[in-house]
Amino acid sequence: MKQKPLLAVYPGSFDPITYGHIDIIQRAVRVFPDLIVAIVGNPQKKTLFSYEERIEMIKNACPSVRIETFSGLLVDYVESIGAGVVIRGLRAISDFEYEFQMALSNAKMKPDIETLFMMSSEQYSYVSSRLIKEIAMLGGDVSEFVPEYVVKKLSEKLRLCN
Ligand code: ADP
Repeated sequence: MKQKPLLAVYPGSFDPITYGHIDIIQRAVRVFPDLIVAIVGNPQKKTLFSYEERIEMIKNACPSVRIETFSGLLVDYVESIGAGVVIRGLRAISDFEYEFQMALSNAKMKPDIETLFMMSSEQYSYVSSRLIKEIAMLGGDVSEFVPEYVVKKLSEKLRLCN
């Protein structure tokens, strides 16, 4: 019997999308062709880019992926769209503790939703959106870490902020 592929969600801030995120998206769709990149609205986290800007940058980098936004609990959103899997990327050991806590508490709330981790590819294991913003704000070159389009958006945004 052929099973329907599971709907999977890759949640994050994507502020902005980096080659690290793109690598996870490209690898995740091979396993879960029905992948949704879900941009989280976190009231405690102030972002540099608006939802619209982040969506635009993800679309530009990954034109065929589905993009949605959500606020509130991740597991409630995942359940509401009928998805069964949450994809997270794992970089260094520093990611582990937080991710472990999140995965366990989500499993406690919704045991039917599975969190799956993908190890970061070696060359992106230290890349984070926060690092990219810091480098860009200090005038550094971030073209090794984010697509050209994001480099352009970052410099436009930082020009406006200054
Ligand atoms: P960041 O931590 O860079 O601000 P997000 O909140 O957007 O990123 O993260 C969304 C998901 O993507 C998280 O599971 C995070 O661990 C993962 N991720 C972020 N950057 C990378 C990377 N370079 N390699 C692998 N996974 C990553």
